[in-house]
Amino acid sequence: MKIAVIPGDGIGPEVVGQAIVVLEAVAQKFGHRFEFQEALLGGAALDVKGVPLPDETMEICLKSDAVLLGAVGGPKWDNLPGHLRPEAGLLGIRKGLNLFANLRPAKVFPQLKSNSTLKEEALGEGIDILVVRELTGDIYFGEKGRAKIPGGEKAWDTAVYTTYEVERVAHLAFRIARGRRRKVTSVDKANVLESSRLWREVVSKVGEQYNDVELNLMYVDNAAMQLIKNPHQFDVILTTNMFGDILSDEAAMLTGSLGMLPSASLGEGRLGLYEPVHGSAPDIAGQDKANPIATILSAAMMLRYSFYLEEEAQAVENAVSKVLDQGYRTSDIATPGAKIVGTKEMGSLIAQNM
Ligand code: ATP
Ligand code: MG
Repeated sequence: MKIAVIPGDGIGPEVVGQAIVVLEAVAQKFGHRFEFQEALLGGAALDVKGVPLPDETMEICLKSDAVLLGAVGGPKWDNLPGHLRPEAGLLGIRKGLNLFANLRPAKVFPQLKSNSTLKEEALGEGIDILVVRELTGDIYFGEKGRAKIPGGEKAWDTAVYTTYEVERVAHLAFRIARGRRRKVTSVDKANVLESSRLWREVVSKVGEQYNDVELNLMYVDNAAMQLIKNPHQFDVILTTNMFGDILSDEAAMLTGSLGMLPSASLGEGRLGLYEPVHGSAPDIAGQDKANPIATILSAAMMLRYSFYLEEEAQAVENAVSKVLDQGYRTSDIATPGAKIVGTKEMGSLIAQNM
């Protein structure tokens, strides 16, 4: 199994380093062999190659089974023109890999309930939601433009979805729900948008092939409200590019722990891109302070979605939970009476608890 490793900038190398420590422990315990190949992206690539996304980085990724990425960007490169910014490298790689779905779990570990922004009643035993956001269609890529009109200008963006685009992300969401609590909530604005009406029709049709999965249809304004009011009702949220952008950030903030949030972006084959939700955190880079758990949980998603190693993925997630049970915390998730540890110690503890 070939893994392209892109440490990137800021805390990226520190957190990716600990995810590798944990993957090595998985390899040992379960008798797998992971081949890691490092590649440059973002500021790290700019410093060495003069571009944020060197060709060889793209080649390494396309030859791999999965890509593990830290984070890119930082103040050092902030004044470069747009196409030379580290973030341009990140957008380029996401595009080059033909990813069509972004998966963002929002999970409140019971040990970290006090960090959540939710009230105790709304939180209950903790929440465990997976937002599946479509990435290739919608208002991001439809026709857009500007024109002069009397008294000023007009500007427009067009939301477009095809049957095929909705079908492929819907199948993915239903298959994923089968490995979870078997509930899909499809979120759209079908009372107003034609693209949402097609979305709703296609998702409902695909849903007929998954009789064992419950399907609910919800308007996005209601979904935004329900996430705060009654987050327990959600298992998998399946939604469009635009609504997914907003709802995945909303769901993430319910957990209150940026350093705990992983993500996966999937394409048609097994090749996927796995990265923490947080950025390069230049304010704490190089100080052994960063929480590596978001990246370690991203590696668990890699085991699950690119390598189909469910037992191994769960072993990583259980090890994280055990270390939290033992009272260890990085400073960003510190709770009263916790044992504060650095990036490296947190990674080693999780690896030892495998
Ligand atoms: P970007 O534009 O790359 O998303 P950002 O500045 O919006 O960057 P982050 O880099 O994620 O956001 O940082 C936001 C805050 O959260 C910072 O104060 C940072 O130190 C903190 N932070 C982010 N990730 C972690 C982590 N893994 N562990 C501890 N603190 C973190
Ligand atoms: Mg940011």
